[in-house]
Amino acid sequence: MNEKIALFTIFGGTGDLAKRKLYPSLFRLYRKGNLAEHFAVIGTARRDWSDDHYREIVRDTIKDLNPTTEEAEAFSSHFYYQSHNVNDSEHYDTLKKLSDTLNDKYKLGGNHIYYLAMAPQFFGTIVQHLKSQEILTDNGFDRLVIEKPFGSDYDSAYQLNEEIRAVFPEKDIFRIDHYLGKEMIQNISAIRFANNIFESQWNNRYIDNVQITFAESLGVEDRGGYYEHSGALKDMVQNHILQVVALLAMEPPVAFSEAEIRAEKVKALQAIRLYSEKEALENFVRGQYGHGKLEEQEFVSYREEPNVDEHSQTETFVAGKFLIDNFRWSGVPFYIRTGKRLTEKGTRINIVFKQVPVNVFKDDIDKCGEKTDLPPNVLTIYIQPTEGFSMTLNGKEIGQGFTTTPVKLDYRHSAETTGNSPEAYEKLLLDSLNGDGTNFSHWDEVAQSWRIVDIIRHAWDKTSVEFPNYAAGSMGPDAAFDLLARDNFTWDWQPDIWYRERGKLE
Ligand code: NAD
Repeated sequence: MNEKIALFTIFGGTGDLAKRKLYPSLFRLYRKGNLAEHFAVIGTARRDWSDDHYREIVRDTIKDLNPTTEEAEAFSSHFYYQSHNVNDSEHYDTLKKLSDTLNDKYKLGGNHIYYLAMAPQFFGTIVQHLKSQEILTDNGFDRLVIEKPFGSDYDSAYQLNEEIRAVFPEKDIFRIDHYLGKEMIQNISAIRFANNIFESQWNNRYIDNVQITFAESLGVEDRGGYYEHSGALKDMVQNHILQVVALLAMEPPVAFSEAEIRAEKVKALQAIRLYSEKEALENFVRGQYGHGKLEEQEFVSYREEPNVDEHSQTETFVAGKFLIDNFRWSGVPFYIRTGKRLTEKGTRINIVFKQVPVNVFKDDIDKCGEKTDLPPNVLTIYIQPTEGFSMTLNGKEIGQGFTTTPVKLDYRHSAETTGNSPEAYEKLLLDSLNGDGTNFSHWDEVAQSWRIVDIIRHAWDKTSVEFPNYAAGSMGPDAAFDLLARDNFTWDWQPDIWYRERGKLE
């Protein structure tokens, strides 16, 4: 196995992200040999922890991966804790000393990854100190991994980017969008570019519309404080959903490399029509969940959740229509939808193909005496929690006469395959060790996404909607259905009952 050599400094080392995602992912890399002897981790946060206590916490976070005692001990021995207030310059000097010591001890060649697993208001301060306190060196590499959200609108993102770019060149900045580490998001490119049957039809001559649904069944839970300032538009659309739109809409890259893919994604984002505020109001709808019931369970409304204003105007649901003004996509709506407390958890893409030019079966009568309508062919990509794809076709119903019937070819990865596949964070950490930025967001993508989203936000901030406007457990407000009905389309999404009944949508 190709061993990677680096020192990780994790700012926010006592936080939820570090414990739930980063330490288990580092352990998986360790177990696979991607990390072996020549790595060390410094966890920093305000709390006053000893190395021993920190190592105990780290071991606790990997319990579910069933390490042997020796494995857990050996892995956690690479972890060091440094109490640190990010605003205090002196603390960076202590950090530098520890970095230098570990660099020598583990022979790390000056390779350094700084992971900012902290609230975004600290990002600028930390990078400035990394430079001013001369923690960055000319030996090895210095890479910055940065969590979302990257700004709260175009202006703040631009400001933050300027601060970071004053210290790190773009090639060393790895802006995490963990969806880009997901197996099936990466599979979008395989489906498109490894199957002529699809790529030859991937355009406005054959595709009627594209539907992207990021549904959550959970409510806002204990994240009310954060969510009140974010809302679904900024939390989901600006980053994850627009990244998926870009991957679906981009032109085939000339090579499957970071530079080529990035260039095509940026072009796709730039082709998304920038609406006027009036058009934004016509093409985007927002919702907020009221109380509701799903499978015998009662749920409170968003406004009754902890740390949420009782008159909150924050949206927990967004549906909208993007138009892409280029030769490939002109006239094909990309409908997107995301929300909390929806019928079930699931991220899915439906590619809805155009009907055959003439329906020669239009006079056929089905069993109920109705004329048969041909449903469209639909390619569905299941991103999570099940992973796979399906294709609906029309076949002939067995028996006398000639009645067509939809047939679904459905392929999902087994639970075992999914369970054994690398976690998004594991892949992204390995990519950052390899210096491969393909699955991270480039500034040009972030900037264009904010330009698109800011218009919608500004339009919404000037108007109000009667909230709540959808019941917990439903698929959102009526307006989200009207949006497609206006264009004579319907959401193709159907609940995944078979999987839900077997508890596979957790
Ligand atoms: P958290 O509140 O659990 O952890 C924050 C960490 O920052 C703690 O270790 C805390 O001690 C440290 N900290 C706060 N102020 C400090 C200061 N002045 N000096 C030094 N340390 C300080 O937050 P989290 O959930 O781990 O999220 C961290 C980042 O990751 C945020 O940007 C968040 O948006 C992002 N993120 C988190 C998740 C997740 O699953 N938790 C998912 C996606 C993105």
